[in-house]
Amino acid sequence: MNVILMGPPGAGKGTQAEFIKTAFPIPHISTGDMFRVAVAEGTPMGIKAKEFMDAGKLVPDEVTIGVVKERLAKDDCAQGFLLDGFPRTVPQAEALDEVLGAMGRQVDAVVDIQVPASILLERMTGRVTCKACKTVYHLKFSPPAQAGVCDHCQGELVQRSDDNEIAVVENRLKVYEEQTAILADYYKNQGCLVAVDGNRDTKEVFADIKAALEKI
Ligand code: ADP
Ligand code: AMP
Repeated sequence: MNVILMGPPGAGKGTQAEFIKTAFPIPHISTGDMFRVAVAEGTPMGIKAKEFMDAGKLVPDEVTIGVVKERLAKDDCAQGFLLDGFPRTVPQAEALDEVLGAMGRQVDAVVDIQVPASILLERMTGRVTCKACKTVYHLKFSPPAQAGVCDHCQGELVQRSDDNEIAVVENRLKVYEEQTAILADYYKNQGCLVAVDGNRDTKEVFADIKAALEKI
């Protein structure tokens, strides 16, 4: 089951990926998470990615495609994967088709989580993540029981550096409209696009996604 989660920043891709993982045994591959790990570790790739992430821009295709190719070649992807935040450009989508084609595989479903732009800004600026287990909370929509502390592992909750500056958040939304939204047509033409209304309770959103993935 080769699945892509698509949608603007703040749409709820990471949140839904957590639900999907409990129902379908496929690895969750978030390019944003991979880049954040590389930044924290200070690897050469992380140092390069950081300048783009801090500005709310896309990391160049050649870097991103290389990272994903390497990840998809790992054993745990043999039965499928859940890509989150990739592809984000047409060249990335084409590269993915090429890699999968060489393995005799294809994209089975692209879940496009749709949320009005007016909601996204508040979703991103209120997002906090557990430093240890990476659980995502929202200060208003899904707050932790105790401020600043993860409900699951008591880890520290932190705000992403690219979520705390309005200009960067706005740029990420603009970049999505300019470079990524077009991929909905790309996958519609391939007959695998599933549009889901993401402006509802997380459990309702997941119910629709689960029903769509069960049909694959
Ligand atoms: P993405 O991975 O698409 O950038 P996230 O899953 O991190 O988005 O969600 C962004 C923020 O919105 C988080 O703070 C999350 O808790 C919150 N959120 C996600 N889905 C919903 C929803 N359906 N309703 C309200 N808030 C949500
Ligand atoms: P995300 O966690 O998906 O919101 O991604 C955070 C940041 O990582 C983005 O704003 C980009 O700078 C970078 N990034 C993540 N995925 C990609 C991708 N597929 N292509 C280019 N840059 C990416």
